[in-house]
Amino acid sequence: MDKDQLERVAQLVKPYRITSGKGFRLRDFSPADTAGLKSADRAEAKEMLERGVEWLAEQQDMLYAQDHWALLLVFQAMDAAGKDGTIKHVTSGINPQGCSVTSFKQPSSEELDHDYLWRCMRHVPARGQIGIFNRSYYEEVLVVKVHQELLQRQKLHPSLVTKKIWKQRYADIASYEHYLVRNGILVLKFFLHVSKAEQKRRFMERLDNPEKNWKFSAADVAERGHWATYQEAYEDAIRHTASKQAPWYVIPADNKWFTRLAVAAAVVHTIAGLKLHYPVVGAAARRELAAARARLRNE
Ligand code: ATP
Ligand code: MG
Repeated sequence: MDKDQLERVAQLVKPYRITSGKGFRLRDFSPADTAGLKSADRAEAKEMLERGVEWLAEQQDMLYAQDHWALLLVFQAMDAAGKDGTIKHVTSGINPQGCSVTSFKQPSSEELDHDYLWRCMRHVPARGQIGIFNRSYYEEVLVVKVHQELLQRQKLHPSLVTKKIWKQRYADIASYEHYLVRNGILVLKFFLHVSKAEQKRRFMERLDNPEKNWKFSAADVAERGHWATYQEAYEDAIRHTASKQAPWYVIPADNKWFTRLAVAAAVVHTIAGLKLHYPVVGAAARRELAAARARLRNE
């Protein structure tokens, strides 16, 4: 990608990046926003996405060769916001050996016997890798905050469960992310922001289309009943954990084609900032290469 294209990418993603919680309000962000791109521009958007994905694959190869940096992409959203499809598209060109996706569901009894970061820490990507979390430790201040009975199952001593617990969790999560960034693991957090009306449309489609029936879960409709509480929980979580080092991206999610483009743009923009290149071989190593070449030639 040339300089102009990277500049375009930077401009596209800028309005959605939250680097400070101060004054952040979810209602200032429209799920239907498409950064001025019209439905008619979809072909162009698709082409941009393809170019971005191709570029990411090339960059991932250098990321691996350098072995300094890793990328952790965290995806959070209400049901049917398009996490799965977005992950699939954005990682489509990447060498499977350089990328891992981990989905976090209700914790198992083994997981509940540990602190809540434990199960996530084990899947943080190694240097040279791109790791994706499909849901994450943020569930601890989202679903667990909305359904506080879940806290009771976490085996915490009652003295540790106080009114301050959410603020403590935000602080711990933010510190943990800063720790990762200081170790060369860049953290990008995506909230795929879908509207309640669009979620209903997608649920209906899952019910109406036999090929999509398997995606439907009655539990999702029950969660929808807590919509407002979830939105507040998301707003609070973003407010308390957005930082320059580990920004949140509030990605409009009513149009899937735009969601994919904006997420890819955020990743491209971050990687571009690393100015990756293949490791340069030093004089001694070059001599070794020359010797190996001579040996092969003389076989
Ligand atoms: P999809 O529905 O597209 O397959 P999903 O991420 O919604 O993907 P599900 O198996 O439907 O996957 O749901 C996982 C559930 O696990 C979600 O409702 C989520 O809130 C819940 N969950 C994840 N982490 C925790 C946690 N730490 N504590 C309690 N519930 C959690
Ligand atoms: Mg689900």
